[in-house]
Amino acid sequence: MARVYGAIEGGGTKFVCAVATGPHDIIARVRLDTRTPGVTIPDAIAFIREASRGYDLAAIGVACFGPIELDKGAADYGSVTTTVKPGWAHTPIVAPLREAFGVPVGFDTDVNGAALGEVRWGAAQGCDPAVYLTVGTGIGGGVIVNGTPLHGLMHPEVGHLPIPRLQMADGRLDDFPGVCAYHGGGCFEGLASGPAVGARAGRPAEEVPDDDPLWELEAGYLAVGLATIVCTLSPRRIVVGGGVMHRGNVLHRTRERLRDVLAGYVGRPEIMVPNGEYVVAPHFGQDAGLVGALALAQAAERGAR
Ligand code: ZN
Repeated sequence: MARVYGAIEGGGTKFVCAVATGPHDIIARVRLDTRTPGVTIPDAIAFIREASRGYDLAAIGVACFGPIELDKGAADYGSVTTTVKPGWAHTPIVAPLREAFGVPVGFDTDVNGAALGEVRWGAAQGCDPAVYLTVGTGIGGGVIVNGTPLHGLMHPEVGHLPIPRLQMADGRLDDFPGVCAYHGGGCFEGLASGPAVGARAGRPAEEVPDDDPLWELEAGYLAVGLATIVCTLSPRRIVVGGGVMHRGNVLHRTRERLRDVLAGYVGRPEIMVPNGEYVVAPHFGQDAGLVGALALAQAAERGAR
């Protein structure tokens, strides 16, 4: 029987589930709306059970929205912890999967998973440390060090880095109140996520024209966030995904602004060369999280051997 892996990208609005042999051989996939845990988790289990019929299911990986408990010694290891997502706080994710399938379950943040997938098979191959950042409904960052997702006190929470206010196009200091439920406009996500762009513009971010000066402000905030990451983690490459990066030439502008923020102090050629390959788009695009879950499944299998 062919060996396959279950992959679950657990997000706040959707759960994307797949059964695959590898990143380029997805046998079946499904998109489930994120409803309550009592509905969505059994639906994900039923899909994997059905799609893996006739195969040898070796392991499952879950790249999950957070915060999550990653301390294997903790009673609630493998759970979502303090999320603001209604119904999902303190929800076990790993336990029901282990119970249903009896195989190793890899579990990490959606962004740590995506980072691992991009390092193994995508845009950050050969780069260690590497960072994956997503800028969309929220902002999140995953970090790979020595080939492994970085865990510690918990896991990196790049989206909630405190970020200083920037000047807007008209020279005034940005006084936008922010959109973070915890920090208002005091953090990266509060100032620069897709909903922040939308709230500034008074319409959804998708409807803000590419030539709106808001995108330049956005690139400025992204550059400050990236500079903080460069100075603390010294990544060899930063992969940046998420819907906001497709708008207003934001990726290119962010690279330029990053050089300005670092001001030549971190003057490595990888960063200094215009349109260089230091800040790049994910190889797997929208599938970065799902491929990350697959990488977590394979890592769990290796760890269990
Ligand atoms: Zn925040």
